[in-house]
Amino acid sequence: MKKVIVTGGAGFIGSALIRYLVGNKLAEVTNLDKLTYAGNLESLKEVADSPLYHFAHLDILDPVGVKNLFETFQPDAIMHLAAESHVDRSIDDPLCFVKTNVLGTANLLQCALEYWRTLEPQRKQNFRFQHISTDEVYGSLNSKEGFFREDTPYDPKSPYSASKASSDHMVRAWGHTFGLPVLVSNCSNNYGPYHFPEKLIPLIILNALDGKPLPIYGKGENIRDWLYVEDHAKALWLINQKGQPGETYNIGGHNERTNLEVVQTVCRILDELKPKTSGKYVDQIVFVTDRPGHDLRYAIDSTKLCQTLGWKPEENFDTGIRKTVQWYLDNEWWWRPIREKKYAGARLGKA
Ligand code: NAD
Repeated sequence: MKKVIVTGGAGFIGSALIRYLVGNKLAEVTNLDKLTYAGNLESLKEVADSPLYHFAHLDILDPVGVKNLFETFQPDAIMHLAAESHVDRSIDDPLCFVKTNVLGTANLLQCALEYWRTLEPQRKQNFRFQHISTDEVYGSLNSKEGFFREDTPYDPKSPYSASKASSDHMVRAWGHTFGLPVLVSNCSNNYGPYHFPEKLIPLIILNALDGKPLPIYGKGENIRDWLYVEDHAKALWLINQKGQPGETYNIGGHNERTNLEVVQTVCRILDELKPKTSGKYVDQIVFVTDRPGHDLRYAIDSTKLCQTLGWKPEENFDTGIRKTVQWYLDNEWWWRPIREKKYAGARLGKA
């Protein structure tokens, strides 16, 4: 069985990936996570007691700690998800994004490279440094036409996307210069269970339930391509197993929606599953001043991943969003403490 370091495994996508790998006995995993505000070990409750799961409380910027982990765990792959990931926070504190996303990735690459050079030839050939990135590196599509492909030029617009673009370049440079077997994937917006309550979809569900305003940037016209997080986790493992070193794969859900459509859909499902005593949830919608430099549209062409590796998302937006709303209704034990401790004032949701 493969041994894999997953960085950022206490976050939204990382925890879905670990639940998938450990829950299905696909790999032995060490979760390398600093546990920032976004990291929550409660998201790993269902696999925490498995002998296939280990936790290393580490910062990806720590050269000694990361090097020691490589030496003691002897992984066959690293799947790198740890990052600062919220666009609004990157506008408040851009340097934090540069440190974690750029320098942190460079430190991981350097530690992986030193370790990889010590491996015997077969293990060296099979080793993978897999970097998980975003479609936001491609910038914004300013019309309803066209899609981001793997060869679309980079044009990041926010400190977040610029830091992720930079980390993608680092990964490719280590692959090209040192021969480290690297893989990169760029994914569209994820949604699903265990999504941190400040992001758009959970924020809307939870504000709706708490009778609070449902804030939408501008006129709610920004378009995102939504991917159910468990489909993303499966795509990442497929790329790890079958992807060609040096290649990039775009991952998208083919589920484009405006932010307004997303919020209205959540409201409709809540009206059905947990009706208000009077009125409808859409009555709580408020339009607020737009985010500076807000990208209009992201849309992914994932033909390469579908055709070369045989990936296909299992959920469409209608099935995935219903599952997600139901999950938040059933799992107040997970979100209530996070929301009450720090986010009672709730920021706007990223989308
Ligand atoms: P998240 O913010 O939910 O989780 C990030 C995790 O990284 C947290 O557990 C946090 O504790 C950890 N972390 C942060 N800084 C760290 C450090 N210095 N050292 C170790 N751990 C650290 O993020 P997410 O939404 O799960 O995203 C995971 C990855 O996927 C990111 O790289 C992000 O850029 C990318 N991505 C996310 C989306 C999305 O829609 N959420 C879409 C495309 C790509």
